[in-house]
Amino acid sequence: APFQQVDVHELLDSTLVMMGRKIGPGLRVAKEYDRALPAVPAYAAELNQVWTNLIDNAIDAMGGVDGTGTLTLRTEPLGDQVRVSVGDTGPGVPEALQDRIFEPFFTTKPVGQGTGLGLDISWRVVVKKHHGDLRVRSRPGATWFDVTLPLSWVPA
Ligand code: ADP
Ligand code: MG
Repeated sequence: APFQQVDVHELLDSTLVMMGRKIGPGLRVAKEYDRALPAVPAYAAELNQVWTNLIDNAIDAMGGVDGTGTLTLRTEPLGDQVRVSVGDTGPGVPEALQDRIFEPFFTTKPVGQGTGLGLDISWRVVVKKHHGDLRVRSRPGATWFDVTLPLSWVPA
C-alpha cells in the first residue's frame, strides 16, 4: 500500500460505507470532524483496518446490528499531531481489562465472533508503522479509543 498524505475524514467515511451492513437502525452516527484538520502521512489501507476494528468493536459493545447507542467519530488537531477518536455509549471496558484488551488473542466475544487480534493489529499499525499512539478511556456509557498520529515523518 502506498505511503501518502491522506485526509483522515475520507478514510473514516469510506470505512463507514464499507461497514454499512453492521450499522443498524438503533445506531446514531455522530461525525464530529474538524474540517481544518491537516492531511497526515499514512498507509491508507492499513489505517482503514484500524478504523474498521475500532468501529466494529464500538458497535459490538452497543449490541451489534440490533443494538442502540451513539457511535462518535471525532477528529482534532493536537500540536504536531492529529487525534482521531472513536466513541461509543456501551457498557465500557472494565478497568482491570484496559491493558489486557491490547494483547493478541484477548477477547470476551463468543467463539467464532472475535479473534482478539483487532486491537493488537491496530496498535501495531498505529504505533509501530505510523509512530502514533492508541489508548482507551472508558467508563460505563462512554468509551473512547484515541488514535494520535504525528504530522511529520517519513518511512525508514
Ligand atoms: P475482538 O473484537 O475480536 O474481541 P479486539 O482486539 O478487537 O478483539 O478487542 C478485544 C476485546 O476488547 C473485546 O473482546 C472486548 O472485550 C474489548 N473491547 C474492545 N473495544 C471495546 C469497546 N468499545 N467497548 C467495550 N469493550 C471493548
Ligand atoms: Mg475487534
